Amino acid sequence: MIAFDYNTFHAKEKGLIIQSFFDGRNSHAQLFYGPSGNGKFTVAMAYVALLLCEQPSEKGACMTCASCKQMAKLTHPDVHFIFPTYIDKSNDLDGLSEEFIKTWREAVMANPYLSFGDWKRFINAEQKTMQIRVKEAAYINEKLSYKSFYGGYKVVFIWLPELLNTETANKLLKNIEEPEDKTVIIMVSERYGLLLPTITSRMQSVYFPRLTEEEVRKALEAKGVGNPEVLAQLAEGNLSDALELAAQSDSLTELATYFTLWMRVSYSVNMPEIIKLSEDLSKKSRAFTIAFLQFSLQTIRQAVLSNFRTSTENPIFANTDFKMVNFSKIINPENAWLIMNELDSAVADIERTCSVKIVMTDLSIRVHYLLKRGIIPKPLDIL
Ligand SMILES: [Zn+2]
Repeated sequence: MIAFDYNTFHAKEKGLIIQSFFDGRNSHAQLFYGPSGNGKFTVAMAYVALLLCEQPSEKGACMTCASCKQMAKLTHPDVHFIFPTYIDKSNDLDGLSEEFIKTWREAVMANPYLSFGDWKRFINAEQKTMQIRVKEAAYINEKLSYKSFYGGYKVVFIWLPELLNTETANKLLKNIEEPEDKTVIIMVSERYGLLLPTITSRMQSVYFPRLTEEEVRKALEAKGVGNPEVLAQLAEGNLSDALELAAQSDSLTELATYFTLWMRVSYSVNMPEIIKLSEDLSKKSRAFTIAFLQFSLQTIRQAVLSNFRTSTENPIFANTDFKMVNFSKIINPENAWLIMNELDSAVADIERTCSVKIVMTDLSIRVHYLLKRGIIPKPLDIL
């Protein structure tokens, strides 16, 4: 994870980062941002390893010196990792990163494409308030007042600075503006729009774009994951989501089973079954629900196309009683376009962490009307 060639993504950005390091143009405060699950975290790690390496080269850190060995274990004494956590008074946890560092290392080692949602699930904190709290600022400022262990750079690595509360951010500003000698602050953000302008205006920012379907597919193939093509399509550039789906064995068959059931209960507007299905989905991971909606989008797209050519059955549905030839009879270009719009906004709602149960129940009713009547009636018409 600490080598620039850990993955093949973002070659241009990596080149610029290495170049600016050797030209001495690298800022002491850098922000790496872009959508989740796209590998920017591994680039940030490789950059920190390069900063601290005893024998850096144009390829990056050497991987063999004492500093690199500690970086590889995420235990380098001059790197302070800060990330969102929760307060748990009953277990004497004040919500400092230091209290969670062992678990965080495990999570990152297991999945270097970890997203905020993945981290929350890893520590069972889906219902908890996750933040980088003001006590953390005092801790950081104290750590930075010490001499560095190796005599080189001291690094503060803030993962998900969008969860810094305003007070914490204000207390850190001095260090961002006038850092101590040989101090570097690196931030890795998934949600640039939520960052405080007082922070972004003081950082040198590098944007890391969403991965392409091709990049995700190749990465899955390299890991020997089955069905890389379908998974890459479903994950929409999020490698973490793709790997999670791959880890849930038979997840594609499960998606097909859910889709078959969902279309049946939505078509017949069977409310108890719609609510039950929405509840079932709300107990799954966010990645699964999003994959389910993407899978639904693709299947509806295929249904439209199969109206214009000889219908082909999708092998993923082999274990269900779904038949494309029948389904395509209730799909036409008009209602398909409207349903796909509804699915798109449902994905956006779930990504904004709206309740899966409410989104899915509402969506099922809308899909019912679009399948049956081709329009969603206004509330008065329904009554
Ligand atoms: Zn090294």
